[in-house]
Amino acid sequence: MAKNQNLDICAFCGRTEKEVTMLIPSGVYQDVYICDQCLNMIHSHIEELKRVAGDNKAAADNAPQKQAEIPKPKEIKAFLDKYVIGQDSAKKYLSVAVYNHYKRLNQPTDDDVDIEKSNIIMVGPTGTGKTLLAKTIAKLLDVPFTIVDATVLTQAGYVGEDIESLLTRLLQAADYDVAKAERGIVFIDEIDKIARKGDNPSITRDVSGEGVQQGLLKLLEGSIVNVPPQGGRKHPEQRMIPVDTKNILFICGGAFDGIDQKIAHRLNTHTVGYSTDKAKARINRDNYLEYVAPQDLKSFGLIPEIIGRLPILTHLDPLDRDALRRVLTEPNNAITRQYVKLFGMDGVKLTFTDEALDYMVDKAIEYKLGARGLRSIVETVMIDAMYEIPSSKKRSLDVTKDYVAEKLAVTNLEILSQTIV
Ligand code: ADP
Repeated sequence: MAKNQNLDICAFCGRTEKEVTMLIPSGVYQDVYICDQCLNMIHSHIEELKRVAGDNKAAADNAPQKQAEIPKPKEIKAFLDKYVIGQDSAKKYLSVAVYNHYKRLNQPTDDDVDIEKSNIIMVGPTGTGKTLLAKTIAKLLDVPFTIVDATVLTQAGYVGEDIESLLTRLLQAADYDVAKAERGIVFIDEIDKIARKGDNPSITRDVSGEGVQQGLLKLLEGSIVNVPPQGGRKHPEQRMIPVDTKNILFICGGAFDGIDQKIAHRLNTHTVGYSTDKAKARINRDNYLEYVAPQDLKSFGLIPEIIGRLPILTHLDPLDRDALRRVLTEPNNAITRQYVKLFGMDGVKLTFTDEALDYMVDKAIEYKLGARGLRSIVETVMIDAMYEIPSSKKRSLDVTKDYVAEKLAVTNLEILSQTIV
């Protein structure tokens, strides 16, 4: 390679070995070198390129989804329909709320109109799909999402977790990227358990009701809260992460056991006047939850400020016979489909007769087991086959009504109903 006055030179900058600290020889060509200065320069250049690429990626990760990419409310509902049976009202409200949440994140800031967030509260009997709805929504979203349980919360100074720990899980879902977490969605389950005990005889444990609600209010209305990165209770030596909750969407769910009586009472006392009989006749007495209104939540023991911060109130219907039957087979993730897949992996064709499915639903209704219990029934029916078949030569199993009856005959469904939570 080239030399300068018989001195080796850097093939990039032409400096001679005397002008640099060292020349590094090529591993392939003879007399070809690169100097330490050129190496340093290339190294810094690569680092800069990496930094810019990283910044761009971080910016892209944190940028709100473009309006055009956001699933429309009807698309969100159609997605929910694949996994959750019925509950049209709740699905509609949720779809609109999630869509609007995205819109808020994208809203132009060049005018005085500020789209405020609309947190949601879903009231419905246990086992009717509140958590399932929340989980299904999460599959669709590209914002961090977490489900937390209000029963672990207590007022500062009591045993239990501080309110701020609700956001720890969201931070974890966002890989501790605070900006991302600040656009996330939190589903707070069992919100009814923090109702004031005084007004509500059905609550067995008062986790210091009103104090917790006051704490929660801070989160719902949007403020900067200090979140313990590992959750649990705050302690002085722990470093806190400040999180702004202004753009976090809160979806709350609760069974509110006994609220139907409060609704019925309100409806019956309010429908006075000459049109009373007509108005009363229109009320669907099988499902008072349809008429749930903010004042019912208040009589249940939620403070008005909390109710005000949960402006979207929707309900879930109890699952009737037809709905339970559909739960067994229709959702993408239906329990019977899961078993068909499990057996299929062993090369076994599993089928259920209609009568067998009907029989399982009948039992779930007879023992008031609900959708969760239905799942336990199928599991009970299938356990022996799950145990035996992988080691047998059987290539198919047809689950008939007799088969189900035989398996359930040795099961105490009363006890099963007590184990379902
Ligand atoms: P909750 O209303 O108490 O939060 P879940 O959503 O946890 O009830 O429901 C428990 C289980 O019951 C679900 O995992 C699902 O298998 C089944 N289930 C309940 N409701 C429905 C529904 N509407 N559609 C399909 N499956 C349901």
